[in-house]
Amino acid sequence: MAASEIVVMKFGGTSVAEPDDIRRAAGRIVAARQEGKLVVAVLSARGKTTDDLVDMAYEVSDTPAAREMDMLLSTGERISCALCAMAIHDLGYNAISLTGSQAGIVTDSSHTKARILDVRADRIRSALDEDRIVLVAGFQGVSGDSRDVTTLGRGGSDTTAVAIAAALGAEVCQIYTDVRGVFSADPRLVSNARLLPFVSFEEMLEMAASGARVLQLRSVEYARNHGIRMECRSSFEDGPGTLVLSEQDTMERPSVTAVTHAEEARVTLTGLRDEPGIAGRVFGALADANVNVDMIIQNEPVSADATADLSFTVDAGDLGSASQALGGLDISERIETDERVGKVSVVGAGMRSHPGVAATVFRVLGDNGINIEMIATSPIKISCVIDADKIPEAVRALHEAFELGTDAILEEEPTGAEHRPRVAP
Ligand code: ADP
Ligand code: ASP
Ligand code: MG
Repeated sequence: MAASEIVVMKFGGTSVAEPDDIRRAAGRIVAARQEGKLVVAVLSARGKTTDDLVDMAYEVSDTPAAREMDMLLSTGERISCALCAMAIHDLGYNAISLTGSQAGIVTDSSHTKARILDVRADRIRSALDEDRIVLVAGFQGVSGDSRDVTTLGRGGSDTTAVAIAAALGAEVCQIYTDVRGVFSADPRLVSNARLLPFVSFEEMLEMAASGARVLQLRSVEYARNHGIRMECRSSFEDGPGTLVLSEQDTMERPSVTAVTHAEEARVTLTGLRDEPGIAGRVFGALADANVNVDMIIQNEPVSADATADLSFTVDAGDLGSASQALGGLDISERIETDERVGKVSVVGAGMRSHPGVAATVFRVLGDNGINIEMIATSPIKISCVIDADKIPEAVRALHEAFELGTDAILEEEPTGAEHRPRVAP
């Protein structure tokens, strides 16, 4: 078995929602096999199954235990894999479905957001050697310490696929989804969003981190760290989609590549003691509670004996753990929480060499009467926290101001001669 012949194909929830969708995915998998590839397919839970399972847990308990949550949520992906194996059998091919644990996905023990530590792919390899198509349940693994089933965080099937591609030395990891690839903004929000034929890892990381959920952040990190070729395509139509490239394969870019958006929650600590070590205690407690913090703002008090204010944003699902972790610290007068704030970001590797992007972002939001509540920047991203209800307006205005629409921009090409994906905008 030559590793270069292996392809990993991942199908998201919408791509396996209905029986016809499962048969369509099975058809794509078999077509790759007919082209002589050895295929490992990673599947997500069907349609809204994971959301339904989460709701089911909260119907029974207000505080479901994380271990049991993982037992429950991991079932969705198993259903998809077993059904798809049956559809592949009907096409006359040999297929076997495996849970994450059977496939050798070993993780740490952080239930509901576990990290992959190792992929022991011998069982996948021997099934491929036996000329089987292997279907792996995405989004799950097994803790190396406790042997318990774990899940990898929402959208985690992308990471399962990339990790398996890395372990097998696969030629490519294809992410099949319900849009044609990665766009200059969420195509469900911006009708003239442009399909990006390629995007650099660096930009894709910023986009994924700021809300473009089409590729899960960890999967992009994993692909970059392991040099995996990642393609994002539609399950429903043919086309090359988007290729994620290393930085050296991308050339001079416009100042902004994409506008992204997300909803988050915000925590504000007021009357915070202004002395060394306080921020360390706050964020240490959050790290111990496994809460990822996104934007942080702290103001230095104006007078020497005054107290400080500190605001930060977290995933809405982490708000409860964050409040609980800070509750016991006794370092501020008040902890205020905002369950829903919006965030819009502009991302682009070209930003480094194009001054004035921040000024344009702030002016456009101002001109549209949108108040900026927090600002954070990286060398290739500017993010603003705004009223969540203003997200659609803000995204459309920024997309237009930076001329990202299909009607406004010329195609650019990567310099890497081997990567020449061309797609009609
Ligand atoms: P899957 O179930 O296939 O994993 P996801 O729902 O996780 O699919 O991701 C696909 C969705 O990501 C699209 O339906 C789209 O609405 C959304 N999305 C957000 N931002 C972007 C973007 N910049 N480009 C493409 N899709 C995006
Ligand atoms: N089914 C999981 C989710 O909905 C994982 C995934 O789709 O990647 O988040
Ligand atoms: Mg997804």
